[in-house]
Formats: sequence, structure tokens, C-alpha cells
Amino acid sequence: MHPPSYIDLQVNGAFGVDFNDDALTFEAFHGACQRLQADGVVGFLPTIITDSIESMCRRIRKISEFAKQDKMLEECILGIHVEGPFISPVSGFVGTHPAQHVRPASLSIALQLIDAGQGSVRMLTLAPEQDESGEVTDRMRREKVAVFAGHTDASRSQLQRGIDSGLVGFTHLGNGCAMQVHRHDNIIQRVLSLRGQLAITLIADGVHVPGWLLKSWIDILGYENCIVISDAMSAAGMPPGEYRISGQPIQVDSDRRTRHREHGYLAGSASTMSDMDRWIHHHLSIDELRCKHLFQKNAIDLLGRIGA
Ligand SMILES: [Zn+2]
Repeated sequence: MHPPSYIDLQVNGAFGVDFNDDALTFEAFHGACQRLQADGVVGFLPTIITDSIESMCRRIRKISEFAKQDKMLEECILGIHVEGPFISPVSGFVGTHPAQHVRPASLSIALQLIDAGQGSVRMLTLAPEQDESGEVTDRMRREKVAVFAGHTDASRSQLQRGIDSGLVGFTHLGNGCAMQVHRHDNIIQRVLSLRGQLAITLIADGVHVPGWLLKSWIDILGYENCIVISDAMSAAGMPPGEYRISGQPIQVDSDRRTRHREHGYLAGSASTMSDMDRWIHHHLSIDELRCKHLFQKNAIDLLGRIGA
């Protein structure tokens, strides 16, 4: 197994700590980051998900301030990933994000969110159909924020327009997607048809996407275009039980399936990067070099391309 030095572009929490919790303390955050480091994560993006703009800004500000208070945090926090609120409100595509806080992209709100991070927001996941003009995508690119499509049912032309405006990736392919879609013209096939133009993040826990399908997508997209993310929530690294993401109750069973207690949708993962590394080694035949690309190199290259 390659020496663990994972880069994780999407971490909502871990080891019993929810980064979207308003009661998050410096000590709890620091402790979770230490345990992520011990798990082999050398750099990651704490992720703030859809909520009221005030709540999102408050959480972004808090984490960016925490990161400045400690050398270890400064080193391992590569920035903040904001997932929402400019995503699809449609059931299935919205996933477990609170639909009442989802909205069309707005430049002034996007600037408010990145201002709250004082330069630390490095990634934004939005639905291209919520940014039809491409104005927010283009401005974020100029602000050195990597814009990813996700929680979206964008048409092929909306995706292509997004790419023309600066879209660089697609967040957790196969998730944030309705259970039933058109047999040909669906979001997964559209993204596969645009391969080479987008970096694709994948949750490799064996729960979010079946192993055979994950392997098939990596083969089609090319391992140099795929990035493994944990999309971890507070249950990652913890025993089965009930956990929270942004106040929502999530039940985790013994096979690490994360289910929203009310509607049953998957809500983040209960796996850490080392869990995913072990899972890939046991279930998929992917060699060391390719794993290094999936777990580290491609994410570093992507953030490097976006700029400091
Ligand atoms: Zn998501």
C-alpha cells in the first residue's frame, strides 16, 4: 500500500465532530483535524453545506479563523469547500441539503460567502442550471475558487456553457442525483460525454457507488481525471449510531450506510480516506500509481491550477 498522504477535497466532519455545527469549538475542530492527520490526511477542505446565508457565512468565518490559530491547522487546511446553496432544488438532486435554503446563483451572495472566508474558500459546488449566465462561475474562477458542478440536473449545453465560464469539475458523480432518470439523456451520461474537460470527484466507500460501477467510470474517465473524496460527515471513524450534519439526524448502520432519519437519502459518508484506500485495494484492481493520482496528486494539481 502506498504511504498514506491523502488530500481530501470534501470533509463535512469526522470522528464525531460536525464542521457545520454552530456549537463547533476550536478544541473539537482541532481534535478532529488531528485524527484526520493520524488517518493519513495531509491536506483537506472542510466543507460547509447549504443553510441560510447568515449561517453559512458564520461557519465559513469560524473555520477560516480557527485555521489561523494553530500551525498544524494552517498546514493541513488547504481552504474551504462551499457546497451550495446554488444547487438544484429538485428532489433527489438536492440530496440532504435543506431545499428551503437552495437558491439561484447570485453574485452578491457568492461574494459574501467568499468574503466570509477572507481568501480561504477554494472550491464551490453549484448547479450550472442555477447560474445560466455563467456570471458567478466566471467571477469565482477569477477569485481563484475551483467551481464544480454538483447536485445538478444540468443539460449538456448548460454543462458546456458552465465549462466555457470556468467550471473545472464535477462533485461526487452518481450522488446528488435522482434515483430514476432518463435512460440516455441523464446527468451521468452527459458528464461522461464531457470527459477530459472536468475533474470528477468520487466517493469510494462502496456504499455511494457500487465498486464495479466506480471502476467502470474510472476506466472511462481516465484515472488522471478522477479524484477520490471522503465526503465524510461526523460519523466517519466512529461506530454505528445516530449522528448529525448541520443539525439533521443521520443514522449510520453497521455497513456504514448513512441515512437521513426522515427521508432515507444518503448523507455524506461514514468512511475516512484510509477506509476508502483499503476498500479500493480489496475490491478494485487499481495499481499504486493510479491510487496516488486518485488520492493525492490530482487534487494537488487541481488546486495548483486554480492558483494560490
Ligand atoms: Zn453533496
